[in-house]
Amino acid sequence: MLKYIVEKLYPNYYQNKYNVYVFDLDNTITNKHTGGHYQKGTYKRFITDEMLFGVKDVFKKIKESNGMIYINSRGIASNVYNFLSDTGLFPFITGVYAANYDGKKYSHNGVVTEFKLEHNRWPEIKSIYLNKIVQKEGVSKDNIYYFDDTKANIYYAKHMGFDNSYIVNSNKFPDTSDKYNLVNILQTLLK
Ligand SMILES: [Mg+2]
Repeated sequence: MLKYIVEKLYPNYYQNKYNVYVFDLDNTITNKHTGGHYQKGTYKRFITDEMLFGVKDVFKKIKESNGMIYINSRGIASNVYNFLSDTGLFPFITGVYAANYDGKKYSHNGVVTEFKLEHNRWPEIKSIYLNKIVQKEGVSKDNIYYFDDTKANIYYAKHMGFDNSYIVNSNKFPDTSDKYNLVNILQTLLK
């Protein structure tokens, strides 16, 4: 009976747990920081064609391995959505956690936002969002792979038990020898 209820509430609970890949946006997926205020139609200013091709390639590999993809960004929710939509990345993504201007709770287009951009505890907020993903997907923290160029975010996440957290930095792309580039890190991890 308990198993039946748990399966109804969390359909994946008794299945093999899948990995969830969580990405910051600015300087993780993008090569240049958008300032959190991305304007529709301007994506080529922030991500090179090669980088976008590389990101799509690894996103496809993640989906083929039944992994899930989330975005965890301090960018304003609608701007993050516009960037992901303009670049064609949005269809790969299960959910987005982002920022807003007033700190209220919103959920729109698969984008959830509960904290304002100017909040001074974003390393903590990013881990709050990671915990929400754990709960939503019914996975363990070990199934979360988190990537962010802001060291404080990664240190905080590791402190909170997200051991698979990686400092990346995509601003040197397309230097293929750059070990901090997101695409290079993921190509290695997904082998
Ligand atoms: Mg960033």
